[in-house]
Formats: sequence, C-alpha cells, structure tokens
Amino acid sequence: MNYKYFENKDCEFYPCHKMEEQNCLFCFCPLYFLDCGGKFKMIEGKAGHMIKDCSDCTIPHLPNGYDYVMKKLEEKGV
Ligand code: SF4
Repeated sequence: MNYKYFENKDCEFYPCHKMEEQNCLFCFCPLYFLDCGGKFKMIEGKAGHMIKDCSDCTIPHLPNGYDYVMKKLEEKGV
C-alpha cells in the first residue's frame, strides 16, 4: 500500500471488476467527464440522457492507474 495504490477488500463491492487485484484509489474515476482514452460505451441512463458505462474499463484500477489518471489530467489542463 502507498499513496498510488491500495485495495479495500472490506468494501461491500470488492472486487467491482473481474480482476485478481485492483487499485481502489480511484473508486470514482476522475476522468469520467473527460475524453479519457478508456474502454467505455455510451448508454441511456434512467433519466433518459446518455451516460458513460465504464463497466469494462480497468484503467483506474490497474497498478499504474494513478500515473495514467494524473498524466491525462495534466494533458487536459485539469
Ligand atoms: S473508468 Fe475508464 S472509461 Fe471510465 S472514465 Fe475512467 S478511464 Fe474513462
């Protein structure tokens, strides 16, 4: 465990992706509202507007997820 990676195996949703190990640091992906480069699809939400479905994306949960997210935020000027 360090500031770039930790797992919360006590979480009721763990593991929320089919992975052996996963980084829980970005439980909610900070790239959600950006052109993120991740594997998402657009689906219709309950309110009828289109939303990102990130179910198939593991980027923020990979061991290097912190570095990917921080680099993208810097690229986007966030
Ligand atoms: S979880 Fe993946 S697809 Fe969803 S916003 Fe983050 S990087 Fe993009």
